[in-house]
Amino acid sequence: MKYIVLITCFVSLNVAFAKPHWKYKWPTVIPSVADRAEFDPEKKVVIDASLKVFVECAEHPSAADWVKVKISAWFGGQKPSIVVTPYTDVLMPAGEEAYVLSAKDGHLTLRARTLNGIRFAMMTLRQLAQPARNQFKTSVYEIPEFTVRDRPQTPFRAMHICAFPEISLSRIEHTIRLAAYYKFNYVILESWGVFRSKKHPWYGLKDGKLTVAECRRLATIAKDLGVEIIPFFNVFGHACATRAWSGKNVVLDSRPEYQSLFEPLYGFNWCLSNPNARRVICDIVGELHKAFGRPKHFHIGCDEADPPTCAECCGGDYGKLVADHVLAIQEYVRKLGARPMMWHDLLIKRGDPRWRGFEVNGTDATVRLLDVMKKDVIICDWYYNAPPKNGIYPTMDYFRSLGYTVMTCPWDNLAGIDAQCGYARKHGLGIVGTTWNHLMQRQVYEFIPYQASGAWGSQCIPALPRGYSLRVTYGTHWRQVGWETPGNDVYAETGFFTDQIGTSIGER
Ligand SMILES: [Zn+2]
Repeated sequence: MKYIVLITCFVSLNVAFAKPHWKYKWPTVIPSVADRAEFDPEKKVVIDASLKVFVECAEHPSAADWVKVKISAWFGGQKPSIVVTPYTDVLMPAGEEAYVLSAKDGHLTLRARTLNGIRFAMMTLRQLAQPARNQFKTSVYEIPEFTVRDRPQTPFRAMHICAFPEISLSRIEHTIRLAAYYKFNYVILESWGVFRSKKHPWYGLKDGKLTVAECRRLATIAKDLGVEIIPFFNVFGHACATRAWSGKNVVLDSRPEYQSLFEPLYGFNWCLSNPNARRVICDIVGELHKAFGRPKHFHIGCDEADPPTCAECCGGDYGKLVADHVLAIQEYVRKLGARPMMWHDLLIKRGDPRWRGFEVNGTDATVRLLDVMKKDVIICDWYYNAPPKNGIYPTMDYFRSLGYTVMTCPWDNLAGIDAQCGYARKHGLGIVGTTWNHLMQRQVYEFIPYQASGAWGSQCIPALPRGYSLRVTYGTHWRQVGWETPGNDVYAETGFFTDQIGTSIGER
């Protein structure tokens, strides 16, 4: 009996110290690979100093330098040998942003036509790599032998981020880094009273976080990651720079001397009869454009304006005032070298049966703008609900039929995101994923991955998991990009929310 027990002990010890078989489990990659991925789960390639990395980039032989810096930053300071090889078009998917990423026989190959393609290959690599087990502090990573061929099917992929006073700078930067990690190529950054204008410091909060220096810093970070930050400024309604139901107005709550620039009732609209208002708007638009490094696009808002209430706006032809005002701002944006973007809902009339069920806020006055606008304006059509039963989005079709470039802008309805992104792929639209006040809400771990995958080019349902599986995947990615975000080592900045218990956690 004793003898048997001893043998049992010996066997179990032996089992405990036996080297486990290496078997790689392919993770959920976000955005989902749109073309093809193959891998061998039992053959590994190690990311350490012995790794050879071949970089083939048609546009940018110096892409190798970018790869070198990021491998060191993302993979425990590793400095593998980087070999620049001539670009070959073999087995490359179509498109400027396509890439092929493969690992085999102890080396890694990144191939792309453009630097952005190389960047995307690296984003995928980061999601696939696992820290090796036989170490105390992580510096070595492992991947299986694999090949990924991938490409976006929508060229314009933007994430709209709101810089509320309640959102820290660290969290804004963190989200920009996440947008890049999820292969968005644009971030539309909307200041909610936090941009510190030098010309008009009264427009905004005294302690607003987005100083010019900070905007420049964020633009530089985004550019390095292949993302253009598109500045945003509300030039018509939403002039209070707050969510109106909060009762707040970033100017008039403390500065009654500026009342004449805004409509008397609440100050929600800029006053279009006061030429000083347009002067201020142009000044701030110019400042924002410069602060973000003179990008090629500028978003002028233009959703949800109130009817006029000042005697001059009420006494005049408000439609003409609106058209003249918005056209002048659009022309100013062009002069800055940028293409104007705007929301769609004031351009179509409320009550028109053609748009029933869709987002419509236009009046007889505001829809006249559409008759006179130049066709280079990009119309951002927002719709946050479940897909229509017939699968048709008549407002987007309407703007397209008039010759405008149209973006579909979903929010947090997962079926809606999936359907609208599919519509965008089918009809050649762009995608603007909105986040609004839900950046620190429970839904964030589902709708952002859905937006990213839909924008990149895959059907999300049923390809992406839901609930727990998606939360832990998104949480891992969110944490990874947090590692290079300054300020993210403070408790309130970690995770999706500032706190983990309390009444405000993840509530809508
Ligand atoms: Zn007025």
